Amino acid sequence: MPDITTIAACSTALGAIMCIAILLSWFKDGRPTQRRWQFAPFGIAVPAGVLLTYPDVLPGPLGLMLGWFALTVVYGSAWLAARVTAGRKPLPLVMLAPCLAVLFFTATVGADGAFPELRMLPRVLLFALFDGLAAREFARMRAPQLQSATTLYWIFAVFCVFEILRAPFSLSLPAPFGPKETQVWSIALFNFLIVLQGLLLGVFLTALGREQLAAQHYRLASIDPLTGIGNRRALDDRMEAIAQTGTRGGCTAVALLDIDRFKAINDEHGHGFGDMVIVGAAMVAREVLGAGNVFRVGGEEFAAIIEAPSPEAVMAKAEKLREAFEARSHVSGDISRRCTASVGVAMLEPGDDHAARFAAADEALYEAKRLGRNRTVMAPLPVQEDPIDFRAAAERRAAGV
Ligand code: GH3
Ligand code: MG
Ligand code: MG
Repeated sequence: MPDITTIAACSTALGAIMCIAILLSWFKDGRPTQRRWQFAPFGIAVPAGVLLTYPDVLPGPLGLMLGWFALTVVYGSAWLAARVTAGRKPLPLVMLAPCLAVLFFTATVGADGAFPELRMLPRVLLFALFDGLAAREFARMRAPQLQSATTLYWIFAVFCVFEILRAPFSLSLPAPFGPKETQVWSIALFNFLIVLQGLLLGVFLTALGREQLAAQHYRLASIDPLTGIGNRRALDDRMEAIAQTGTRGGCTAVALLDIDRFKAINDEHGHGFGDMVIVGAAMVAREVLGAGNVFRVGGEEFAAIIEAPSPEAVMAKAEKLREAFEARSHVSGDISRRCTASVGVAMLEPGDDHAARFAAADEALYEAKRLGRNRTVMAPLPVQEDPIDFRAAAERRAAGV
């Protein structure tokens, strides 16, 4: 049977090895600022472990008290590491305040003071608080591309619940769980739990860092640099997602918008002005349809995913887009110019061949150009015969024909 010192020494050594392994793995990733905060709980855990394991390093109650204080800071900095990983500001003073309060409490009321059996309770509650706060940070980060955030949420949530459940026993259990004399099983279990939590945190934080990097690369690869909206790759992914999971009810359509006589705009006012018109078209499309629904798929061609309760409402949105672009003035120096665009729309049905529907929207766009430009045309549904010219239909309705 190993004695207490052997168990404590093994877990401290394991913690130190883990610390070095994590540090080495993060060195490779270029050590951005967030890595410093992510390393903090591991870095502080080593002196905490040494102070709690080797009383000779700082003899008397001071060494133990500082060791416990450092351990509360380890849990607190795990929370700050979670915050920084989620892209939020670290709050070191907010974290240190309760740690110092607990240190003060255990040095006065607990320990050899009025209620020595209360020595562990505030520490356990503070561990639970920090675990709960870290769980909340990871819960906020949960996303399909960040699977490790969900795992970290569960790890911290389970440890938080465990700390809360063990809080009442901290009045009667052997140290380090409670105020009674240390037992081999209690030190072994306590150290096992801390090393386990540290190991899980290290492994899944590293995985989460990689997932964040991959998500960032995906974002950069799927955004059009001129307009800041999605590009063809982003549209393909969106169409793929619609094909696989469907939409939230109602109708979904793909619309293609092409600026009319754009070559002439470039020729008359220069390429720079042309670029400004393209950016203006993207801004109008974002305003009318929402940033996540519009994509630049060519020089002056845009695609949009339109969701609406009915095909008529889809067409109304597409027309609103065309009209909003027509109403916009593009101004640069003394030049002020309005431009128009043609739009082709094709409804997407569950189970449709979406590539074919995209081609149908393109056909409708060409039809809009052929009919004189500055109009919206809907592609016939697979059973329909002719494309529908909505502007002509609206004009006919207005004229009472
Ligand atoms: P239509 O009404 O038939 O669409 O006529 P159009 O002149 O717009 O014809 P087309 O769509 O073929 O012309 C596209 C032009 O857009 C050709 C190219 O010089 C220009 N272009 C493509 N990419 C860019 C870009 O990024 N910036 C600018 N300024 N012009 C671009
Ligand atoms: Mg074009
Ligand atoms: Mg054009």
